[in-house]
Amino acid sequence: MHLTYDVIVVGSGFSAIAVTCNLIEQLPASAKVAVVGDDPGFGRGTAYRTELYLHRLNVPAGRMSLLPHQPDDFVDWLKSHGRRLQAGDFASRGDYGLYVRDTLARLLRKREGRCRVDFIKAKAAGCVERYNSTLAFHLGNGDEIAGKTVVLCLGVGNATLPVAPDGIPASLRSRIIENPWRLSWLRRVAPSDAVCILGSGLTMIDQVLALRAHGHAGKIEVLSRRGLAPLGHAWKPPAPLPIDVERLPNTISGILKTLRAKSRTVADWRAVMDGLRPATQALWQRLSGEERARFLRHALPWWNIHRHRVAPDVFDRFEKLVLDGTVRFHAGFLKSLGAEEGRLAASYRVRATREIAEIRADWLVNCTGMERAGISHSPLLKEMSRFELIVPDPLGLGIQVDAASEVIAPSRISPARLFAVGALTAGQFWEITAVPDIRVQAKAVVEEIVSRG
Ligand SMILES: Cc1cc2nc3c(=O)[nH]c(=O)nc-3n(C[C@H](O)[C@H](O)[C@H](O)COP(=O)(O)OP(=O)(O)OC[C@H]3O[C@@H](n4cnc5c(N)ncnc54)[C@H](O)[C@@H]3O)c2cc1C
Repeated sequence: MHLTYDVIVVGSGFSAIAVTCNLIEQLPASAKVAVVGDDPGFGRGTAYRTELYLHRLNVPAGRMSLLPHQPDDFVDWLKSHGRRLQAGDFASRGDYGLYVRDTLARLLRKREGRCRVDFIKAKAAGCVERYNSTLAFHLGNGDEIAGKTVVLCLGVGNATLPVAPDGIPASLRSRIIENPWRLSWLRRVAPSDAVCILGSGLTMIDQVLALRAHGHAGKIEVLSRRGLAPLGHAWKPPAPLPIDVERLPNTISGILKTLRAKSRTVADWRAVMDGLRPATQALWQRLSGEERARFLRHALPWWNIHRHRVAPDVFDRFEKLVLDGTVRFHAGFLKSLGAEEGRLAASYRVRATREIAEIRADWLVNCTGMERAGISHSPLLKEMSRFELIVPDPLGLGIQVDAASEVIAPSRISPARLFAVGALTAGQFWEITAVPDIRVQAKAVVEEIVSRG
């Protein structure tokens, strides 16, 4: 089968749905759109598929509307579904997934004057330029579709284990959880089993709380390079301290010094982080390539824990487990994974020393996440790069796009237009992985598509 569309959206997570909703609102009835995604729960992606109430949003409900021009949309949805939550509360991610799905369904129900949208459940496996000014995608189901405009919304993919498990018998291999988002593994864990979690970010906190919710009562050892875990939102958030980007220095060390000094002038450091937030993209764009690389090398772990905070009650629950010794942190570099006396053994070099230590556990869970959207996780992106349809970002932050999110690929000849939305554009925007930023980008990209006809 071969079909040609005005717009093809590739992906099935939040970014793809946000783009699709805006296309439905803005394209004329004559337009044809295809959304190609391999995820069974269109719109939910990894983030919003979970059904555990403790897996909560890390952004208050009032800032999570899918449509930036209707800021109360999500809060209204929560109210209409009997959830007693206000704009400042942190809703469950499962509810957010339902809201995203409902928003799309609501727009699709308006049949009059709406463009045609075909949802195709398949993986986009390859892409070529066609002579008729289109980009054509080979799909995993054997079909081919072509588009005059394409929007790539591929997210970051799943992290792989940082080391190969050597000599581990099959019985123990099944105890290495490479993708913790398939929560079915929790049902196999005995209450007293020892669990080792690799990575200490938001996914680690999710998994610790999911273990507890499933009756686990054993010890949890957390290993990460620096042993730093996310901080919490304040119960009473301070007013953001306005920050003038133009007056900040151009170096990472200078910026950090200024931010630390500002933090000392306020009662709660969160006021500084929240004041910086609206200016982060502009600040990133001002930094040289060298300073961006310096930020990624030295400041990223600190940025992550201060910037990507968890809901205050979630933080309190987690902190209790740390204080009572259930959760213990280890800072170091994982060297190898093996088996010792019938258990998994993770050897690591203790941070800032030459000492090698070992954690023995019944389960090992990979929560190392994907901080950056390179292209290596995606066969589609690798092929597009080989054909020079895209150019990888030099720092591994997705692909090169301009300020309008249009892909920069000087060797591409086809006049078909190619955009990217979400984490793939982090090289240009940095702060582009959360809903408040992606929804604005999705709307702007669609406006750009519509304006150029
Ligand atoms: C656990 C977790 C919690 C989060 N919590 C929050 C939060 O509380 N608030 C917030 O604002 N942000 C949160 N985020 C950030 C989150 O990444 C964004 O909000 C958003 O979900 C990103 O959506 P996306 O569509 O860009 O990427 P993804 O959700 O990763 O979706 C990408 C989709 O593309 C599909 N795909 C990939 N390659 C192909 C291909 N070749 N062909 C077809 N389909 C393909 C994938 O299957 C996937 O469905 C969270 C992220 C995670 C992982």
